[in-house]
Amino acid sequence: MDADPHPRQIDLFPAVASSLEQLSEGCRGCRRCGLADGRLQVVVSRGNPAARLMVIGEGPGAQEDASGLPFVGRAGQLLDQMLASVAIDSNSEAYICNVVKCRPPGNRKPTALEIAACRPWLEQQIRLVNPAVILLAGASAMEGVLGIKGGITRLRGQWRPGEQEPLAGRWLMPIFHPSYLLRNPSREQGSPKWLTWHDLQDVRRRLNQLESGS
Ligand code: SF4
Repeated sequence: MDADPHPRQIDLFPAVASSLEQLSEGCRGCRRCGLADGRLQVVVSRGNPAARLMVIGEGPGAQEDASGLPFVGRAGQLLDQMLASVAIDSNSEAYICNVVKCRPPGNRKPTALEIAACRPWLEQQIRLVNPAVILLAGASAMEGVLGIKGGITRLRGQWRPGEQEPLAGRWLMPIFHPSYLLRNPSREQGSPKWLTWHDLQDVRRRLNQLESGS
């Protein structure tokens, strides 16, 4: 990841929120990293806070910054369509958020320091939503949550058991970020889109298993 263009000392750990409403309020007032300086809105989440599936992406883009909701631009629409293709409604059956809650300027990748600054908020979200399955959309999400740098092409589609709190007891899977799929629209066998569709079918199967208790 790039060097942080706005280095600043990370503030004290944010207060522990006892509800998602408290967490949203805390995020809205957060200035723990330099991304606070350029944001229009803090983008916390959309979807169902009681969902068994959480999708974590990289960070807000321009449309998300303007609307205050994650994954609402073209990439978000593609994510919705792909989830719908395996009978998952993104608003009622998933909870969607990002590793950083404020827009990186020019849609650059968030830095390691920015991701670290925002991580306590993400950890609180995971505890409060308590999902059984977490999808990590793109390399930044994989690095920010699992600490694995690079290799999304090799690691996508592989289930990983969460090992440490707040991931323990949950199943995680890295997938391609929908923005990458927009740049690679082929649906041919073996293409990123084709592979992602198969990954999501696997997610559907796991959710079915969890629902049936098997
Ligand atoms: S990106 Fe996260 S840590 Fe940085 S200011 Fe926004 S909410 Fe705070």
